[in-house]
Amino acid sequence: MNRREFARLIGLTGAGLAAKKFLPDALASHASGKNKNKKEWVWIGTDTSASPDEWKKRFEVMRNAGIDAILPEIYNSREAFYESKHLPVGEPWLETILPIAKDAGLEVHAWMWTMPCNVPAIVEKNPEWFVVNRLGESSTIKPAYVSYYKFLCPSRPEVWEFIGKTVSELSRISELDGVHLDYIRYPDVILPVGLQPKYHIVQDKEYPQYDYCYCDVCRGDFKKGTGIDPKNLDDPSSNIAWNQFRYNRVTHIVNDVLRPIVHKSGKKLTAAVFPNWKDVRQQWSHWKLDGAMPMLYARYYDEDVSWIGKETNEEVKSQKYHAPVYSGLSVGQLGDEDLSNAVLVSFASGGSGVSLFSAASMTFEKWQSMRKAVTEE
Ligand SMILES: [Zn+2]
Repeated sequence: MNRREFARLIGLTGAGLAAKKFLPDALASHASGKNKNKKEWVWIGTDTSASPDEWKKRFEVMRNAGIDAILPEIYNSREAFYESKHLPVGEPWLETILPIAKDAGLEVHAWMWTMPCNVPAIVEKNPEWFVVNRLGESSTIKPAYVSYYKFLCPSRPEVWEFIGKTVSELSRISELDGVHLDYIRYPDVILPVGLQPKYHIVQDKEYPQYDYCYCDVCRGDFKKGTGIDPKNLDDPSSNIAWNQFRYNRVTHIVNDVLRPIVHKSGKKLTAAVFPNWKDVRQQWSHWKLDGAMPMLYARYYDEDVSWIGKETNEEVKSQKYHAPVYSGLSVGQLGDEDLSNAVLVSFASGGSGVSLFSAASMTFEKWQSMRKAVTEE
């Protein structure tokens, strides 16, 4: 088998495979000598095109490279890819891959978008559920940066109920191991420095069009506690109480709304989180998670592999409830050897493992490099 065929197998093109011997020798056996104290994860973007047989082979590759758990994207803020009763359903993809992944010995944690909501019926029927910026503009009409930045307001019980329904449905799927929250935050008030040029903007401070949420409920609740309408603050970014109020709103959803639902079913709760957490109002060091995956995508921050270690170390130490930290690595930003180095740096910095973003960017060389790093081979 050549590398081109291998690339096809693991999903770079999604085409089928006829070869009998489908795994190169270097990845044909189970990874031996893997450190039992570490756990490796991989995010898998929605992919309904591959056949069950292809998934069987892909999962074997992942398992043999040292992956323990997969994070398939089963809700993208528009459509669900499981048999949801309250969201529009694309295809029941989760139901297809779940038994195959379990047979391969992988844990399965359902990756769902949390705060953005692009379900047309919800946007039309409940525009008041959505965040409003400091200029008074709703994200349904003027979303920041990109058209899908329609975020729900974290202060509203109706929103907690809506998100809770999705998490409840997932928690009832018996074979599933956990629920993985993505976009569990506000819109970025400041984008990572390496991403600003992409949007042709300079964010040297908090600007009002990116600053949320100034809806009636948020302003009213803050005023009740402090006597201050946040809209009247000269410099909201420097008001500690207003910032903390917003961190607490998201923390409440994680710890008090969603965690009990997931844990009642005996499943795990994990989340994809930001190293620059203040910029997205996401104080995840205070979250009661079974695993946190900080997206340590160094290039977005004009940083290198050593920064991944430094961040991992600080984040492990900052966890109020001792959540295990799995360094999120952007595979597309790393060379083959860099990937190995990033894994080793994360291990050496106290991380509980790594999470790869994403399966579609993994090549034969990268899986090999992953296997080398996680085993004592
Ligand atoms: Zn609000």
